[in-house]
Formats: sequence, C-alpha cells, structure tokens
Amino acid sequence: MKILVSNDDGITSPGIYELAKALSEIGEVTVIAPHTEQSAVGHAITMKIPLRIIKHYINGEFFGYAVDGTPADCIKIGIRNILKESPDIVVSGINNGANTAINIIYSGTVSAAREAAIMDVPSIAISVTSHDVMDFKYAGKVAKSIVKLVAENGLETGTLLNVNVPNVPEEEIKGILLTKQGKSKWDDVYEERTDPYRKNYYWLTGNLIDVDEDLETDHFAVKNKYVSVTPIHFDLTDYKTYEKIKSWKLDTD
Ligand code: MN
Repeated sequence: MKILVSNDDGITSPGIYELAKALSEIGEVTVIAPHTEQSAVGHAITMKIPLRIIKHYINGEFFGYAVDGTPADCIKIGIRNILKESPDIVVSGINNGANTAINIIYSGTVSAAREAAIMDVPSIAISVTSHDVMDFKYAGKVAKSIVKLVAENGLETGTLLNVNVPNVPEEEIKGILLTKQGKSKWDDVYEERTDPYRKNYYWLTGNLIDVDEDLETDHFAVKNKYVSVTPIHFDLTDYKTYEKIKSWKLDTD
C-alpha cells in the first residue's frame, strides 16, 4: 500500500514523524509536507510565486520532501511531480490541536486530506486535541487502524475521514465514535497592541463558543474522551435549500 503523509504543522513537527513511523509498519510511506508551519491556512494554494521542493533529512537519513507552500500545494505537486502517480491513500497529521466543528474550515490539516479527495484519492485527516501534545503514539495507532479500514472498505469518491483524538492517556479513552461536524464556533478577539514604532497592530485570539452537547458531534465526543471519526466532503451544495428554493423565480425583474 502506497501512503502519502502530509500535515500543516510542517515537516519538522513531531506529529508527522510519529504518523510516518506508525504507517510505515503497514505500507510504503512518502512524506511530502510544508517546509514551515501552515496551520489555519485552509485550502490555500500557491499560484503567484514559484514552489521549491527541499529534501529533508533527520540525523542524516532521508525523511521526506518539504514544499515551501501550503498543505494543499503539497498534495497537488506531491502527487503530480514527486510520486508521479496516485498513492492508495493520503493521511494528514498528526495535528497539534483539534480540528472539530468550525475548525474543519480553517484547518490546513483537513485541507491536505481534502485536496486528496478532490484528486480522487481516499484520505484521512488526524488531529490530537491539544497544542502541547506530549505523546502521539496512541493517535498513530488510531491512524493505522483507520487506514486499514479504508484500505479494506474504500471510501466514496470525494469523501475523507476527519479523525480527532482526545489528548488523554490511552487507558482513559472511552472508545471510537462515528460523528457529525459540530456547530461550535469562535468568538474572535483581536488583541490590539503597539509596536516599537508606536503603531498599532492586531493579533487574533478568541474563545470557542461550545454549543455541542451530543455524542454524535465531533467536538462533544472528543471533549468526553472519545475518538471522533467524521466523514466529510468538499461538495458545499446545500441540498435542502436547493429543493426549497426551486420555486423561486430566479430572474432580474
Ligand atoms: Mn496545525
């Protein structure tokens, strides 16, 4: 099984190292990841400046290809110009920080997997729900088992699995749940500060307004120590509204 591993935290992050290590036990892994951290860049792609590919070594041993672009760039150029053929699966992660609820939209981790789905390659995004993760080993195990399930059963074209793992010791994990995207979203705060030249600048922070209270949602499931698995796709059509507004007279007069 040919596995392409990417992420948004950059090729030097411990999460991608653990993911590549875990998945190399079940397949032939190629790492193609951003040269620098690209968290929260969403599905951005690079069009106006060139891209470079740099070979990345760990202790003198080749680890993977660093692309000086976005996560979506890594998948696009990685499949076309490095692998030169589609892998059997793309796995993106292991991300530092949850990609539940609205974070799915902003996430570079999910976007790498989503780009794979656009290119008709089955894919998985995997994140751990903390920004100071100490141990990615359990998440690596989860990734391995879900890759095996996808290899056995396949996925609908255009669909990817978004996996979130609670940041608790393995023995505290209550199980793995199939979930839907939650509705929690950010109450943004732009902190205003002053630079050394007395000009103001702004730094985004904020609080997540947690409205999810159902184990069928990704956000609530991980909060309650369950691993969450959500199938998502890139078709943004609202089919309910499509039916509902069919009766509208869409015209200019
Ligand atoms: Mn990240």
